[in-house]
Amino acid sequence: MTLPQLQPTELDLGRACRLFWRAARLRCPNCGCSGIFRTPIELRPDCPGCGMQLDRGESDYFLGVYIVNLVAVEFLFAIAFAGAVIATWPTPPWTLIQYTSAVLIVLGAVGCYPFSKVVWMAFDVMLRPVSRDELPGPLPPALLSDAYHPGPQV
Ligand SMILES: [Zn+2]
Repeated sequence: MTLPQLQPTELDLGRACRLFWRAARLRCPNCGCSGIFRTPIELRPDCPGCGMQLDRGESDYFLGVYIVNLVAVEFLFAIAFAGAVIATWPTPPWTLIQYTSAVLIVLGAVGCYPFSKVVWMAFDVMLRPVSRDELPGPLPPALLSDAYHPGPQV
């Protein structure tokens, strides 16, 4: 018996929102399973729900996480900096803003790190859907309807 050929779904807003909603809650973007972190900053090798390799089997996967974390922290810094300057205008306390910003950037980088890992994974799953080969065992029906649809029957 041959299984139907699976084709990745097209990019659609609903699927992207579902992937990023799961990521925002620190869940597996592919299946929505919680418990993908071994420690607050360390991912398990595989998702306990679907079995997907959480680094997608690539040694340089951390580079995407680094970029997402950098962008997130810079964005948060820009909002906080603009808010502080606007709130204290016309005499912003530049020295206080400078030192507070340095502390907030360090705390933000640490705080955003777990989210950056899962958001990067959501980007990756959105652009490069999980293949059958990446998952152990048969695909659950929920994953078939989420990431794949049957291709044309040959
Ligand atoms: Zn999963």
